[in-house]
Amino acid sequence: MNAEILSVGTELLLGHVVNTDTAYVARALSSIGINVHYTATVGDNPQRLQRAVEESLSRCDLLVTTGGLGPTEDDLTKETVARAAGVPLAMNETCLQELLRYFAGRYCGENQKKQAVLPVGCTVLKNDCGSAPGCLFRSRQGALVVMLPGPPGELIPMLENYALPALAGQQEKAVILSRNLRVFGLGEGLTAEKLEDLLRGSNPTAATYALDNECFVRVTARAAQESEALAMMQPLMEKIRARLGNYLYTEEYASLEETVVQGLMRQKKTLATAESCTGGLLSQRLTAISGSSEIFEMGAVTYANRIKEQVLGVCSQTLREKGAVSYETACQMAQGIRQKAGSDLGIGITGIAGPGGGTPEKPVGRVYIALSDGAHTWVRCMPGGIGRTRSRAFYRQAASSHALDMVRRYLTGLPVLEDLEFPRAAGIPVSSPCPQKEKNS
Ligand code: ATP
Ligand code: MG
Repeated sequence: MNAEILSVGTELLLGHVVNTDTAYVARALSSIGINVHYTATVGDNPQRLQRAVEESLSRCDLLVTTGGLGPTEDDLTKETVARAAGVPLAMNETCLQELLRYFAGRYCGENQKKQAVLPVGCTVLKNDCGSAPGCLFRSRQGALVVMLPGPPGELIPMLENYALPALAGQQEKAVILSRNLRVFGLGEGLTAEKLEDLLRGSNPTAATYALDNECFVRVTARAAQESEALAMMQPLMEKIRARLGNYLYTEEYASLEETVVQGLMRQKKTLATAESCTGGLLSQRLTAISGSSEIFEMGAVTYANRIKEQVLGVCSQTLREKGAVSYETACQMAQGIRQKAGSDLGIGITGIAGPGGGTPEKPVGRVYIALSDGAHTWVRCMPGGIGRTRSRAFYRQAASSHALDMVRRYLTGLPVLEDLEFPRAAGIPVSSPCPQKEKNS
């Protein structure tokens, strides 16, 4: 069954209300195996609404509308949709009695009673959380039509309790199952290139999506049962895993920070962070995850050179000769914070997030990220200064993501410094082991 969702409301077109109903309905339909082919939003304008409904009904098997079922002047969905669907409206006596009970002790005017006027012969969808009932009926064009109220607090229970069970009975039993394979260190373009031939299937399907500084591959299958869908997805997922290798970090609905916190918890390892240009972003991302207190010992924002020296023990000579934004400083920050906190792992981040402060030698976007475990220290370098300069927020987010990726690689025994896809600056190592010996505490 192919569906379309049409949201009605001028407030949605103006951007005053975010259209969460469509996302909710789309997820719910896909959970019972209904494919959504189009979604659209139209204002409270009967002509445009009628045209949109007619167009949808000419091509879909199911049209779900949201909004405009209430008592006010601008609530025109029922009248307009019924006209476009060629079905007459009439007062539904059972609904009217229900409405009068809802208003017991309060005034119920004609405009309120209008809510009980419904398409003749429809299945009524009860509104347990408001006054306007929804309905399900077959249009003259042959497609099913479901009308739901706009307020999410009314739409969600009506959909879950009445509309979905009714729709599930109308079509062959099916589920649509998806898995997200999340990737760090390869851009969406390169990921798609590696998977090119695997992205052309129809059931299961695989598609790439970009996220902040990372991307993911969504694999989806449609089958009668979840176990069957999963079995259909497995061979494709296996091929994707093989091609993405170490760049694939999770197949759950988990972020890099969740993956790292869970990994540290499993291995009972602790972490401390010393951040300069990220200003605490890394510790914020880690501590946003429930349970992080088990693994996160301390986070220091060490902006001033004096503090890098005093708190982390970075050598004054290093700061003088190599600078605060250097490979050596990052190493010593990671080692210093690890020792200070007495944690298993330490991270140091230092760089130039811009937009000011760049030089030809150290351009905006240059960030050094170090990870130390006491025996070894690894440093990654984001070179910066190539192509278009990105925003301060971009570099900070990217640097904190690199730090998380280094920890997750360390925990899973993968090469911490494997080549990543970023623009290369001539002569600058993207990553290399830190020559500096760990200081004895
Ligand atoms: P009511 O009886 O409350 O008037 P209704 O079915 O007529 O319900 P609308 O008048 O279209 O619904 O919208 C009422 C409110 O519901 C909106 O002001 C908005 O806050 C919320 N709403 C409507 N449509 C959506 C949507 N697509 N996504 C999220 N919220 C919505
Ligand atoms: Mg309304």
